[in-house]
Amino acid sequence: MGEVLKTGVRGPGTGDREQPGVLVQGGTVWTPEGARRADLRVTGEAIAEIGDLAPLSGETVVDAGGLHVLPGMIDVHVHVDDTIGPYELADTFPTATELALRTGITTLAGFVTQRPGETLPGALERCRARARGRTHCDVRFHLTPTVWPWPWEEIEALVAAGCTTFKLYTTYREAGLFTSYERLAVVVERLAPLGARLLVHCEDDEVLRAADASALDPGDAHEHARLRPEAAEVAAVERVLDLAARTGCPVHLVHVSTADAVARIAAARSRAAVTCETAPHYLLLSDAALAGRNGHRFVCTPPLRAVATRARLEADAAAGAFDLFATDHCAFTRADKDARREDFRAVPSGVAGVGALVPTLFEMLVTRHHLGLGELATRLAANPAKLLGIYPRKGALAVGSDADLVVVDPAGPQRPVVSTLADAYETYPGRTTTWNVRHVLLRGETVVADGANVESARPLGQILA
Ligand SMILES: [Zn+2]
Repeated sequence: MGEVLKTGVRGPGTGDREQPGVLVQGGTVWTPEGARRADLRVTGEAIAEIGDLAPLSGETVVDAGGLHVLPGMIDVHVHVDDTIGPYELADTFPTATELALRTGITTLAGFVTQRPGETLPGALERCRARARGRTHCDVRFHLTPTVWPWPWEEIEALVAAGCTTFKLYTTYREAGLFTSYERLAVVVERLAPLGARLLVHCEDDEVLRAADASALDPGDAHEHARLRPEAAEVAAVERVLDLAARTGCPVHLVHVSTADAVARIAAARSRAAVTCETAPHYLLLSDAALAGRNGHRFVCTPPLRAVATRARLEADAAAGAFDLFATDHCAFTRADKDARREDFRAVPSGVAGVGALVPTLFEMLVTRHHLGLGELATRLAANPAKLLGIYPRKGALAVGSDADLVVVDPAGPQRPVVSTLADAYETYPGRTTTWNVRHVLLRGETVVADGANVESARPLGQILA
């Protein structure tokens, strides 16, 4: 079947409806209404029909008998193909998106951080240029303006063009990313009428600066967790929730790592348009990983939390407290991670995750907590697409939606979880999954066949507005 699927390749984005399409036959199809045995016809780049369908002449048939058909998954929080401080990130668009597709992810969202001397549209174009012709899945960007005041006319034009998500930080003064609550208040006030959304990294800078760094052992990475206490996240989340409630601006809290913050967010949902995500590493790892000789490999921000907090986060995840899950994938090379291991404060902060997102959440939510695959589709496809403002074009199996779909055997052979293809440390060594992706279509194009990436003349991913 692999050979058959490699023929008839269209150029990217042609959407030629004269060409015979693809019929995904006999699978359990997860639509927004639920699961049913159905066939799914793809014509051009879109889903044309879902029902009891017979193959048309010339149509490529994908046998999904005994398998599940889900919408292409979306990771809304990745850092790839960029520099952070003096470090070149380990993953590029080619490596990150090749692995993403293999696990069922068809769209990634990255970050545009405005550099000194750059306009915001210029910064966006710089990042788009990195992805253009090099991304195997579709890509979108969140914007982080770093010059105050924001260029409101440019912002309005960008939002009108579909760049509807902005991201700010309540910490990282040294990196020039810190935004005060006073300025955040202005931003949400101005973004609200535009229909844009603000993503916030919540750690209160005053609480962080008050952490006692005396008698610190720089060789003990476990101190990273003590210096960035849970109270910092909770304090910033409370302030940002108040701003969201006052302005009505949709606010999304990224990588929430404490159960106390989750509780504050749950309580605020009736008065604020708030959503939140957490990352697999907060659900699967605790600060115990920071102890010992290789603890520096697990330095990320916010830090890995106490064992009890991790357990509460897992319970929260199983109870539906998170709108979505995203990785904050931020892989550094082994060499860069190790070079400053004698002082954890100088170790670049971040861990790999993009390849682990779907398998680990499947194992946690479906295998361990017995939730349905529909829950996975909601938290890893529909809700991420809504956050990005691209639902139901993405994130749903529905007639007219982009034909981004995953044919998966969720009870396949055990295989290792692989977080990255780059020369970076594996975040989840020894962890396995039965999540076996068999086929993936990206806008109607077969990009994974029989579990392997399909070679094409050039990467087929597109840059979404
Ligand atoms: Zn991040």
